[in-house]
Amino acid sequence: MSQIAFIGLGNMGGPMVANLAKAGHRVRVFDLVPSAVETAVAAGAEAARSALDTLEGAEIVISMLPASRHVEGLYLGEDGLLSRIPAGALVIDCSTIAPAMARKVAAAAGARGLQMLDAPVSGGTAGALAGTLTFIVGGEPSALERARPVLENMGRNVFHVGASGAGQVAKLCNNMALGVIMAVTGEAIALGVAHGLDPKVLSQMMAVSTGRSWATEVCNPWPGVIENAPASRGYSGGFGNDLMLKDLGLAAEAAMGVGAAIPLGELARNLYALNSRAGNGALDFSSVVTLLGPTRSGA
Ligand code: NAD
Repeated sequence: MSQIAFIGLGNMGGPMVANLAKAGHRVRVFDLVPSAVETAVAAGAEAARSALDTLEGAEIVISMLPASRHVEGLYLGEDGLLSRIPAGALVIDCSTIAPAMARKVAAAAGARGLQMLDAPVSGGTAGALAGTLTFIVGGEPSALERARPVLENMGRNVFHVGASGAGQVAKLCNNMALGVIMAVTGEAIALGVAHGLDPKVLSQMMAVSTGRSWATEVCNPWPGVIENAPASRGYSGGFGNDLMLKDLGLAAEAAMGVGAAIPLGELARNLYALNSRAGNGALDFSSVVTLLGPTRSGA
């Protein structure tokens, strides 16, 4: 069992810490929001007074923060963690951030003799709670072998996709495909409904035909089609529209960096930006379908 420092106890980090504590690790935690720390303590973690204070005896440092600027601030800022992490500790950032930022922080860690992985996740809050996340890892294979047992306490699948930053690139590729597929699935169902079709029958047909996807079968964007999908509870919970918008912005940035064309990814980014401007930023990203007109529930 390891001594773990964990920073960032939000929708994802909170349940990830609970799974680490359940597996028997000693987890010392910090978040800017005191109630998030209290919840983690109730789940078996130890409260630290600051991010620096999580480092006491740490063998592994894990962060789960919103975006690039938070990760940069935590590790490289004034009093940044990298200058204080115990020698030999392994650093794992699970946040979804720009690949270039992941490489920058990992290079700074390397300059201090520390191994660092980018290990963004897929699987959402349900996967974080159930301990079934997919980890998408960039960095040295030897670092991943050190991290693997701990990652397996929080997830079911661990993919090594390349060197530093590659985990972030792969995560953005996945989410770009997801963003496009969700938007077009909503568009297809709205078209069928406008012709008088039953969205449930249409979705059931698509789920066993070539239009099938996670968006038809699991997180169907039409209210009432799938009982426990966010669409059936007013688009609450799930994966926020603004997090999808952030990921599509990162994909666009990554595309520009290498001159890649992502016409559908860019179109989808604009749709999620419009959805955010329509006041749906905090709702599940499947609410993008409501841009096309009222759904049956009136959402
Ligand atoms: P969140 O906003 O719920 O949690 C982030 C937490 O970080 C907050 O509690 C915040 O107080 C804390 N924080 C920010 N700066 C900090 C600092 N300097 N020190 C300590 N704590 C700090 O976000 P989340 O949903 O947990 O997502 C975290 C990351 O995981 C994001 O990059 C997101 O894109 C990614 N992700 C989220 C999901 C999802 O379904 N929510 C799925 C996959 C990946």
